[in-house]
Amino acid sequence: MADSAAHEGILRRQAARESAARTYARALPIVPVRARGLTIEGADGSRYLDCLSGAGTLALGHNHPVVLEAIRKVLDSGAPLHVLDLATPVKDAFTTELFHTLPRALADRARIQFCGPAGTDAVEAALKLVRSATGRDGVLAFTGAYHGMTAGALAVSGGARDVRVARLPYPQDYRCPFGLGGARGAELSARWTESLLDDTKSGVPAPAGMILEPVQGEGGVFPAPDAWLRRMREITATRGIPLIADEVQTGVGRTGAFWAVEHSGVVPDVMVLSKAIGGSLPLAVVVYRDDLDVWPPGAHAGTFRGNQLAMAAGAATLAYVRENGLAERAATLGSRMLAQLRSLAADHPCIGEVRGRGLMIGVELVDPASEAEQDPVGSPITPAHPEAAPAHPKATTLTGMPPDPLATSSDDLPVTAQPRPPAPELASAVQRECLRRGLIVELGGRHSSVVRLLPPLTITDEQAAAVLDRLADALATAARAHDG
Ligand code: PMP
Repeated sequence: MADSAAHEGILRRQAARESAARTYARALPIVPVRARGLTIEGADGSRYLDCLSGAGTLALGHNHPVVLEAIRKVLDSGAPLHVLDLATPVKDAFTTELFHTLPRALADRARIQFCGPAGTDAVEAALKLVRSATGRDGVLAFTGAYHGMTAGALAVSGGARDVRVARLPYPQDYRCPFGLGGARGAELSARWTESLLDDTKSGVPAPAGMILEPVQGEGGVFPAPDAWLRRMREITATRGIPLIADEVQTGVGRTGAFWAVEHSGVVPDVMVLSKAIGGSLPLAVVVYRDDLDVWPPGAHAGTFRGNQLAMAAGAATLAYVRENGLAERAATLGSRMLAQLRSLAADHPCIGEVRGRGLMIGVELVDPASEAEQDPVGSPITPAHPEAAPAHPKATTLTGMPPDPLATSSDDLPVTAQPRPPAPELASAVQRECLRRGLIVELGGRHSSVVRLLPPLTITDEQAAAVLDRLADALATAARAHDG
């Protein structure tokens, strides 16, 4: 039953009683009371298509029947719901299913640590693990990274200032730190990494590990080029540095492969997993190669490491994604949505770049009226992978000549248009207009100027078309208001 008074009252009490640090609740003043699949219904009777999906948690959408059935089965069985880290049949089945999905070379020698239920706790565990195993302290992490909100995870995230963390450039096309983008920008990022490690006076001591997201999510949706990821694997492997892949957001089919590292064939030493692996309930684990397993008992403890309902829901989700080819579905549908968004970009100069992989999609909004950001080198964009083409490829080379991928000096580089300044206010107007049209989207990126879509992998073609229609309409309205 729609109840506008209850809706208003709940929102009013939330604003009065909850922390100033609350996040999603500010931009999304809705009161969900029912949900199924992609759809959420609010207390006031409004219905929304949910492309936030619990910040990318809901691989199967809300209340998927196989998830509900798995939860009910545990409840009806009389099994204990809280067991610390004791062995149970439910945990055993979850571990078997999870190992089944891992890259073979890791699965054959994998160990698993059940962590406190948040992704950030698994990041802490991973950092502790590699520090114990290597006896070293420092960590290599990337610009734009997001790994969580606890101290260690925050330290390796992009906003941090931590002397134990050496910061490396994550490759990106539109705002490439080297002004190049594409394969050459990524190559320079790899060379910089190598030189920091090999230069005895770089100021970066031998690290305990390197942590990266195969697609940066919160940082603004940047898929790592496969070749660059392979270079990171080679650089770390040859120097005995454990590589930690944070697949908290990219895992379980989201990017079009079951795990995002599979696109490149890279096998990390450690994988940090959370979000979708709990089938909508809290669950986080670290999986890693057995030779790293030298930390002592209690090295990473916690009361809530045995959530039986989450393990059952998670096992059911993993199996469903695997058996129904939902990663492949995410790849196909994601490519189509990216293409459609790029053609939308052709009509909207306020779209700076459309990026993504699978169903992890970002639309960076920029201020077309402002002068382009200054960059003395120029930015010929040869996408490192097809999913990262600039929104306005024609506009990127003012000479009209295609960039020469083999050019070696800046003299050879074409004069290019530069990225426009980010437009966070426009992005938040788009988010508001989306909500008015019954569409929930997330904002992300350095300046919260990237509109993010993270729909469930179960989204139908018709629903995807409805999402893009609403987004296009919202964008047109917000852009008009912004320009006018
Ligand atoms: N790593 C990545 C890549 C994430 O996207 C997130 C959350 N967005 C985290 C870690 C932290 O997870 P949690 O919020 O569950 O602590």
